[in-house]
Amino acid sequence: MTIRTTQGRGQRFDSILDTVGNTPTIRINRIAPKNVNVFVKFEAFNPAGSVKDRLALNIIEAAERDGRLTPGQTVVEATSGNTGIGLAMVCAAKGYPLVVTMADSFSVERRRLMRFLGAKVVLTPRALKGFGMYTKAVELAEKNGWFLASQFETADNADIHEHTTAREILGDFADTQLDYLVTGYGTGGTVTGIGRVLRKESPNTKIILAEPANAAIVSSGYTNTRNEANQPTESHPAFEPHPVQGWTPDFIPYVMQEALDNGYYDDLVKIPGPDGITWSRRLAAEEGIFTGISAGATFAVAMQVAESAPDGANILVMLPDTGERYLSTPLFEGVAEEMTDEEMAISLSTPTAQMDAG
Ligand code: PMP
Repeated sequence: MTIRTTQGRGQRFDSILDTVGNTPTIRINRIAPKNVNVFVKFEAFNPAGSVKDRLALNIIEAAERDGRLTPGQTVVEATSGNTGIGLAMVCAAKGYPLVVTMADSFSVERRRLMRFLGAKVVLTPRALKGFGMYTKAVELAEKNGWFLASQFETADNADIHEHTTAREILGDFADTQLDYLVTGYGTGGTVTGIGRVLRKESPNTKIILAEPANAAIVSSGYTNTRNEANQPTESHPAFEPHPVQGWTPDFIPYVMQEALDNGYYDDLVKIPGPDGITWSRRLAAEEGIFTGISAGATFAVAMQVAESAPDGANILVMLPDTGERYLSTPLFEGVAEEMTDEEMAISLSTPTAQMDAG
């Protein structure tokens, strides 16, 4: 084997914003069944570490284009984290103040990351769920004349996935059939944008949609009410708190509704949150792919799909973010801070044992 050289992804850019998207599709070599080809689209390669960098950039640039956002105007949004981190990155690069509202149940590192990127974070009580942080953002926008990013309603969300994520997927499978695309949903931007394109240009690709087993709000068949601005006006009765941050808020977003109305999925799979944790850990420890809980949950669904997929099938799994966002969450539970017995035994096995053991 000769020494590696690099090619492809690296080039000179004029701004951090130009590095959003164009994430790699990567083969899974060790933990997937051998009779199928499993690939992941690894969105952690975005500059602020998640798929939401795409929509953050488009929400700001579309609003700049049509004058909804004016220079120096404050941006406000309700977000479980990744959209806030993406918006903070974009607002920092473009010079807009940002205020994020977020339920206090989401991981502490998400708040600190946003503050590190220059944003203000307003916490709302977890008892009020997603709906509480959402209402807070709407109130702040109305009271102060701030620009509400509206990730759950805006056309700029699914549009960017239609124009970037979906095109990248078609490009990566230009030479072979993509049989299955597996994704979860939060706003629904990913599945709606990809669905628009795959249904037209890759009609044989089956789209598999995943949601948490204990918050299966799409499976429930009930659609929550919305107002004239397409904002939810109630918490979905089938929602329960689940450990898959970024997935399934306590309402079916308007952006998601398009995917439901147009049948942008062929199968809907309910997956228990703990399965997401198990598979996220396996992706890290056995493939070197360090990703979040929603990614693990999506991968868990892909492993179910693989069981009944024909030999040689190509399966693509969306991995929305980096695992570094979950250090204080159940994903890292049981990961030791001090040396384990096994590590201590390794340490004690050489002459400096006494010194090392302190
Ligand atoms: N996983 C994570 C970790 C996320 O932050 C999000 C976005 N909220 C999703 C999945 C779902 O993506 P989308 O909003 O495009 O449906």
